[in-house]
Amino acid sequence: MHTPLEHMPRLSAVLGGPQLYIKRDDCTGLATGGNKTRKLEFLMADAVEQAADTVITQGATQSNHARQTVAAAVRLGMKCIILLEDRTGYTDPNYLDSGNVFLDRLMGAPTRTYAAGTDMNAAMRAVADDVRAEGGKPYIIPGGGSNPIGALGYVNCAIEILTQANDMQLRVDRVVHATGSAGTQAGLVAGFAGLNSGIPVLGIGVRAPREAQEANVFKLACETADLLGMSGVVRREHVVANCDYVGEGYGKPTPGMVEAVAMAARLEAILLDPVYSGKGMAGLIDLVRKGEFKKGENIVFVHTGGSVALFSYMPAFEKALGA
Ligand SMILES: *Cc1c(COP(=O)(O)O)cnc(C)c1O
Repeated sequence: MHTPLEHMPRLSAVLGGPQLYIKRDDCTGLATGGNKTRKLEFLMADAVEQAADTVITQGATQSNHARQTVAAAVRLGMKCIILLEDRTGYTDPNYLDSGNVFLDRLMGAPTRTYAAGTDMNAAMRAVADDVRAEGGKPYIIPGGGSNPIGALGYVNCAIEILTQANDMQLRVDRVVHATGSAGTQAGLVAGFAGLNSGIPVLGIGVRAPREAQEANVFKLACETADLLGMSGVVRREHVVANCDYVGEGYGKPTPGMVEAVAMAARLEAILLDPVYSGKGMAGLIDLVRKGEFKKGENIVFVHTGGSVALFSYMPAFEKALGA
């Protein structure tokens, strides 16, 4: 897997701060791409090794992870069952049926919906029991594909970013991205630490408060380093999350997200998403405005994908479109 690392000259100029670069993990290639594809490269290999014939995973209604898991299963000729939790309570038909949900169905995966607050891990185990009872061999992928096997995909991404930056003779001062189920940040942190690169990572939270988010990322980063035989390489201070840009909650639009999505689209023709990369970019833009980064610094924003969810959030952008 290989995605471009590009400069964003117009967005950098408008903000007047550091030089902003973008790692195009929206271009990972699996049915509109995204960060889960890197994790699935390892998770699906594990499923194949275990001779599974049905993968089961869970996410929010507009889960990019579920959509990429369906796509990976299609490519491997496996069955896929996805469990979608209604985390927002939205009733807009575009939210319920368009974007990722439409693609799930187009690719032939049965979707099952669950009320907010359902124990989704227990629900997946129950579905796995049903699959076994029918003679199938299930493989459960945790939400977001975030376990040590999945996080290996972002260790790979850390290696890729460092190699590309070296080829471009680019000094990377910080890597910034949206953090949710923690696998992306855990893999990047373990990878950059294992490479002894000194590149700091900043996760912009989309759901949990800072303390919980950092604890989740740290635990998974340590487990990932253990899996790689690099135990002890990740230190607690390597894990930094800023959770000031969540707004009202997971999947709920914020004015900063709408501004960030519109700026990226209008200045760089980059399509972010409303739930993750839009809030991540909103955080980056705000921190640039507050002087968190110096002029002369080079910041790499990891575009984790998800733009197909824009079609299920159109009303949030009405005002921005009218301007
Ligand atoms: C899942 C997701 C993230 C968050 O990645 P985690 O590894 O779950 O922290 C960010 N952006 C997009 C578009 C996603 O789908």
